[in-house]
Amino acid sequence: MGGPRKLSTNCVHAGELADAHGAPHTPIYNTTTFGFPSTAALLDVVDGRREGALYTRYGMNPTIKSLEAKLAAIESAEAALAFCSGMAAEAALFLAHGRRGVVVLGDAYGGTLELVGQQLPELGIRTHLLLGSELQQLEDVLRHGVGVVFCETPTNPGLEIFDIRRLADLAHSHGALLVVDSTFATPVNQQPLALGADVVVHSATKYLGGHSDVTAGALMGSRRLLETVAPWRKNLGQVPAPETAALLMRSIRTLVVRVRQQNATAAAVAQALQTHERVRRVLYPGLPEFPGHDLACRQMSGFGGMLTIEIDATFAETARVVDRLRVFTIAPSLGGAESLVTQPVTTTHHGLSSEERARRGISDSMVRLSIGLEDPEDLIADLRQALDATSS
Ligand code: PLP
Repeated sequence: MGGPRKLSTNCVHAGELADAHGAPHTPIYNTTTFGFPSTAALLDVVDGRREGALYTRYGMNPTIKSLEAKLAAIESAEAALAFCSGMAAEAALFLAHGRRGVVVLGDAYGGTLELVGQQLPELGIRTHLLLGSELQQLEDVLRHGVGVVFCETPTNPGLEIFDIRRLADLAHSHGALLVVDSTFATPVNQQPLALGADVVVHSATKYLGGHSDVTAGALMGSRRLLETVAPWRKNLGQVPAPETAALLMRSIRTLVVRVRQQNATAAAVAQALQTHERVRRVLYPGLPEFPGHDLACRQMSGFGGMLTIEIDATFAETARVVDRLRVFTIAPSLGGAESLVTQPVTTTHHGLSSEERARRGISDSMVRLSIGLEDPEDLIADLRQALDATSS
């Protein structure tokens, strides 16, 4: 045997601590602090001469360290930092590396747009929000000095695909970092660091957690870049609780099988909906007619469990379709075992003006589906009955 271990093996084994009792995985060290046999031993850890447990909020807790080793392994990163939410991870990252300026490309998560568009400017940080159709302006923005170029790919809810390698080259040529929020893709379908990104962000609340019962976030990247973020995390108090860290490790062990199943089911649902008379378009990177399909084929190894449809209907009619679904649950969020449905105008993009929504191509008749682990036939039948019942 030789060479680096594969993703499935890392999901199961990477970072796990062997304890004195032979537990098959890392125990929960549910303590806030750790004791030392002497002052000299304490100072060895405090001064960094020896790695050790010290204080949980600092992240110096064996369960959290163990999670971070797993997180780093699944993105083939040198290091990882775990956070108490995806937004906590983003906020610490922007404060550590984005003070020269932040550019967000495309349709990022609403919280990211609010943080970058409204709150960072209150701290005097210059920020720019560029749509995919405005990419030609990026070089000009970069020339004025920017610390971080940030994008999701695929995006929410349009599933737009950004060319990670090209953006990394462009950002680097202007001294900026490329940060990719790979929440929708997961490490199963996309490895941004291998394509040149500097840092990967995950809302681990989604696929990494996978059961809609964990709120957490993660940054993966080089040790050098994450060392600058760690003091922000420490002093903003953004570390996950040890129980959360253990729950997330539990979930990551099954990440590959879950996501592969969700990829396959989403593809089946996308194909089935394409031929329904009430469906105007299906946005799914795996469909050959999807605008980003060729790029997705080049930089992704699977197309994910998220898809968005546009119905030939008004807002109210679309809401009636959503309300008739029985297997899908009406809820924001994504990535769990249960399929979720949301109209972006009612949740993720509710806070935007109608002009801004139109500029971003978010229509009243869009429906976003997070495909879970139910049988594909049941999901397709549920969608068909809801659409058929409102057919004219
Ligand atoms: N990134 C993406 C793509 C998201 O969808 C979300 C939340 O929906 C976040 C980041 C923020 O994550 P969290 O809710 O864990 O703070």
